[in-house]
Amino acid sequence: MNQSEVEKINYHTPEEALKVLFGYDAFRPGQKNVIDSILAGRDVLAVMPTGAGKSVCYQIPAMFLPGITLVISPLISLMQDQVKTLNEVGIPAAFINSSLSESAFMETLKRARQGFYKMIYVAPERLVTEGFLHFAKDVSISMITVDEAHCISQWGQDFRPSYMKIVEFVRQLPQRPIISAFTATATEHVREDIVCTLGLNNPFCLVTGFDRENLFFQVEKPKNKDQYILDYLSEHAKESGIIYCATRKNVDNLYELLKSKGILVAKYHAGLSASERKKMQDDFVFDYINVIVATNAFGMGIDKSNVRFVIHYNMPQSMENYYQEAGRAGRDGADAKCILLFSPQDIAINRFLLEHKETSELDMEDLETIKERDLKRLQAMERYCYTTECLRNYILRYFGENPQKPCEDCGNCLREFETRDMTNEAKQIINCVFEAKGRYGRTIIIDTVLGAKTARLEEIGAMHFRTYGVLAKTNKNLVKRLLDQLIAEKYLVVGAYQVISLGEIQRLKNDDAHVLVKITDEDKMPEKTPKKKANKTVTLTSSGYKLFEKLRALRLELAREENMPPYIIFNDKTLMEMAAKMPTSHTELLNISGVGERKYEKYGEKFLGLIKEWMKENPDLAEHKVAVSESDVVLSEKLPEKPRKRKSRKMDFVLTEAEALEFQYADFYNISSIRDELNRICKNDDRKKATFRIITTFLISEDLIFEQENEGRLFKVQTEKGLALGIKTIEKVSERGNAYTQLLYPENVQKMIVNHLVELGKTMEI
Ligand code: ADP
Ligand code: ZN
Repeated sequence: MNQSEVEKINYHTPEEALKVLFGYDAFRPGQKNVIDSILAGRDVLAVMPTGAGKSVCYQIPAMFLPGITLVISPLISLMQDQVKTLNEVGIPAAFINSSLSESAFMETLKRARQGFYKMIYVAPERLVTEGFLHFAKDVSISMITVDEAHCISQWGQDFRPSYMKIVEFVRQLPQRPIISAFTATATEHVREDIVCTLGLNNPFCLVTGFDRENLFFQVEKPKNKDQYILDYLSEHAKESGIIYCATRKNVDNLYELLKSKGILVAKYHAGLSASERKKMQDDFVFDYINVIVATNAFGMGIDKSNVRFVIHYNMPQSMENYYQEAGRAGRDGADAKCILLFSPQDIAINRFLLEHKETSELDMEDLETIKERDLKRLQAMERYCYTTECLRNYILRYFGENPQKPCEDCGNCLREFETRDMTNEAKQIINCVFEAKGRYGRTIIIDTVLGAKTARLEEIGAMHFRTYGVLAKTNKNLVKRLLDQLIAEKYLVVGAYQVISLGEIQRLKNDDAHVLVKITDEDKMPEKTPKKKANKTVTLTSSGYKLFEKLRALRLELAREENMPPYIIFNDKTLMEMAAKMPTSHTELLNISGVGERKYEKYGEKFLGLIKEWMKENPDLAEHKVAVSESDVVLSEKLPEKPRKRKSRKMDFVLTEAEALEFQYADFYNISSIRDELNRICKNDDRKKATFRIITTFLISEDLIFEQENEGRLFKVQTEKGLALGIKTIEKVSERGNAYTQLLYPENVQKMIVNHLVELGKTMEI
């Protein structure tokens, strides 16, 4: 398409452009103000959460401004995706980044000079290269749009030095264009930094609310995260989702597990080659595979709109990270879930990661500031996991908003809590920590107050503590939660090696101080059957769902033909609306949100044809056609829930609590001694034997060791975390005189293994 064709397109106002190009009827809050400001020649800074619709805010003005709009974006994949989307709706755009060959680069510039493009996406590194500068001085540039603008701030999460080139670039232009800056996360500090560094001139600033109504937030503390995920995936088999893990090892393990259960899954982390990463990402984006397991390296610049869930396998390091990652769900506006699976170990992992963060480029003073900042962020994240208040409000408050009422639509709002005053129990636990002199971790403290009979307690003399058995009558899980809460409320502190010591206990001496514990009942947690908020939701009936499936299949077929991600054709929400309203004419189809004229021309007939045919085949269902005005439709899909299956075969090796008491701990054991000891104490042969593999798998999943291949043999090596926990290496010489190394596991690690097997046992109900 060239300039003259663009001009033929029939729209005169931003509203018309929104409808004709993108198929939407109304601007979302804030969008219009930004567009009007730009068109009035004013600089803009817009802070809008992910999915709020930033792109439209500069794409529409770009079509009205006389010259070219340069969009500066850090991510190559994002550029290509956006340009594809734009071309698809009839906006002439191109991109320039390192993925272009020299000749493609020259060709793009040539066409740009001829007036082919209204928008050019460009990587910041490119700006001040000679070739590009020469070009930029020669053509008319109306606007420079800086996407992910927080990257320019050294205070931001992801400062990119290449962003400083923008300033240099603008200075060299013969005429200063309008500058518009966009970001999803920016504190006040970062905001000021953006305005100042980019030299925005009396900008119009927009900060829209951070709330994303269609996202459902939930924190779960499952005994077995893997099982939780398996169950979730089997109940949401057709949905697209991301599972984030803290470490590459976790990603690899979960990926293997899911694959072994026959689930189609992709994975993504920095340890994969660039081509593997690209393949995995494409498989996911193009809907070949529904689920991707990834580290936080994945997602920046993926604007796949039909992600129906984001599960965090581990707690992230900050609320900023969490909200950004979780926010990748539901960008199409349809309902989506953000579930965080939490276990107290996540805290230790994160502290460890923070302490070992690569910071060599910073000077000492900065380093201290950053460490302090990171720790504060981590603590806020921890509180999110423990809070019993409305999760949505917790998030909004964190980002500086002041919500007044609980949302009634998040994991905590829907959970039934009973509150209990546990101040006395709390004091007993604190006394126990006092008696333990800050030398032991959670398990010993809990076992002591519960009065457990373990060899370990005997050995350290805990049987003689005054607090031994004081909470014997209290439920064990409740005691655990109380201990966690005391840590969260800073009465107790977790130090190196997870040892617990006293914190701010003076506060409890005050008579008014109470420790109130909300008693949760994990089983009462409904599988999202929320009372819906005022927004009227049309839920697809199961027959409507069948039509949706057909529409989706058609979309996939078209996408394959054109080698495009399916959601670029129509997003899920648009298809759902079609399935509910069953449009049969040109006008009716154009009334569906997300169907613009261009898309109608390209795909309209095919989708109408399919719908008509379906209605002919299902005349009785066709009568259920939903006749609602589209502005009040928010669609959600509801799949028929499948009953859970129980397996009956010889069970994997696990332990009962009673058996675990028999384990003879030693200062150090090698792996075969641990295995032998496990098999010795296992009393029942309804279970398989303990093997090296189950021990190794656990140690790897905890990120304590990893396996390294050398000359065809696998060697185990401890990770930094493993080292910190005291796993050591010894040199040995085999009978044949060859030297080899062996790992020795200290008592605390032996304990972790045993506890893990007991926890597993509980989930299997032995
Ligand atoms: P952001 O860049 O802010 O994360 P996008 O610009 O990718 O968000 O927009 C998210 C989704 O919302 C896209 O699918 C986009 O087409 C859609 N969208 C944007 N503006 C509107 C609107 N006014 N009405 C309906 N959908 C919109
Ligand atoms: Zn809530």
